Amino acid sequence: MTRLDNQQIAERDLRVVWHPCTQMKDHETLPLVPIARGEGPWLYDFDGRRYLDAISSWWVNLFGHCNPTINAALRQQLGRLEHVILAGFTHEPVLELSERLVKLLPEGLTRCFYADNGSAGVEVAVKMSYHYWLNRGQPAKRRFVTLSNSYHGETLGALSVGDVALYKQVYQPLLLDVITVPSPDCYAREAGEDWESHSRRMFAHMEATLERHAHEVAAVIVEPLVQCAGGMRMYHPVWLSMLREACDRHGVHLIADEIAVGFGRTGTLFACEQASIRPDFICLSKGLTSGYLPLSVVVTTEDVFDAFYDDYTKLSAFLHSHSFTGNPLACTAALATLDLFASGQVLERNRTLAARMARAAAPLADHPGVGEVRQTGMILAIEMVRDRLGRQPFDWRERRGLRAYRHALSREVLLRPLGNVLYWMPPYVLTDEEVDLLGVVTAESLELACA
Ligand SMILES: *Cc1c(COP(=O)(O)O)cnc(C)c1O
Repeated sequence: MTRLDNQQIAERDLRVVWHPCTQMKDHETLPLVPIARGEGPWLYDFDGRRYLDAISSWWVNLFGHCNPTINAALRQQLGRLEHVILAGFTHEPVLELSERLVKLLPEGLTRCFYADNGSAGVEVAVKMSYHYWLNRGQPAKRRFVTLSNSYHGETLGALSVGDVALYKQVYQPLLLDVITVPSPDCYAREAGEDWESHSRRMFAHMEATLERHAHEVAAVIVEPLVQCAGGMRMYHPVWLSMLREACDRHGVHLIADEIAVGFGRTGTLFACEQASIRPDFICLSKGLTSGYLPLSVVVTTEDVFDAFYDDYTKLSAFLHSHSFTGNPLACTAALATLDLFASGQVLERNRTLAARMARAAAPLADHPGVGEVRQTGMILAIEMVRDRLGRQPFDWRERRGLRAYRHALSREVLLRPLGNVLYWMPPYVLTDEEVDLLGVVTAESLELACA
């Protein structure tokens, strides 16, 4: 057999594979990148080129590709059990993972329900919250409150409770009727206003909505601290503390979607810790398995669990399932991930790494095409604008981000801008030199994209 090269693979691929979140016609001019192998933060193609994975392969990878610890754990588990039904049966990886998550999560989150991807996890939380109120004799509480510019996944329920027009608008006729409240997004703050004052001020919208609608609302769903798919827009933790207090006062659940921000992304293991709050539901996925295998978990309270616990004939049980619920291999990858957090000083090291990222991005802040450089922990975003003073955005049809993407690839860096937002959300194993390379290549990409 002859050795495959990039072009051969790409040609065959484009005849049969329909790629996610892609206008396939783009590939008439945009080369597809076939990856042969990965190691640490690097991906290697079939032509001998490599790419620094600055976006953690869609925000999932934490400890590098082909991590030796996770690989070894998976090999062991493969020899024991690949999968078993989780209804009526159980296994060690799911048991141990649940015990360890409950210990790590804010106190009071004690019941773990598994699904197999982030969107499915959001569906679980949404259905459970509605069903809780139904079981408690409050069937009117069936609506959900969400934030403008939020993202919670692509399945119809998850899409309903999100608000990124690009993904949502076409499907609107198929979706649930939700209540959308302005986001505390600090990019929109007044000149001279700090993040905290802006976030506090913006809470008035949420308070007014809850006052008016609490009787028909099951839950508020939010992405704690960073609205990732919505362009890495960030806000102050005080807004979450205010939300917790208001949800309690109005008798509404709080669903924290930490699918993207969980597991050390924002500087703490979970973003909610920065507001010292305990949500009623927390959704975890992505980094849960260090990006190895699809898995999600919704962790909730004894109060919620109790509302479903009764004689079978009362028909109050949560009869939701997925074929691969609690898959042992995926749970093993998650356990190895927790081992890595426990054995190394990951959060401490991330603080140093985040400071290095800030230094590497600092020179970009004064560029005429940059409206803002913002950062929360291991997420750093650069907002490209047409006019810096008026913060006039570039027309989306100009596809400036795509220009940056192309240039960065030619320089061995995988950036995947969200519209006009360039961002870094790298694996936690980057070296200082790799961070500096990101800075240099991003500066070049920005220059080209804004020209
Ligand atoms: C990625 C993401 C999801 C959806 O997860 P999938 O596994 O892609 O379905 C949900 N919520 C947030 C905040 C996400 O970033």
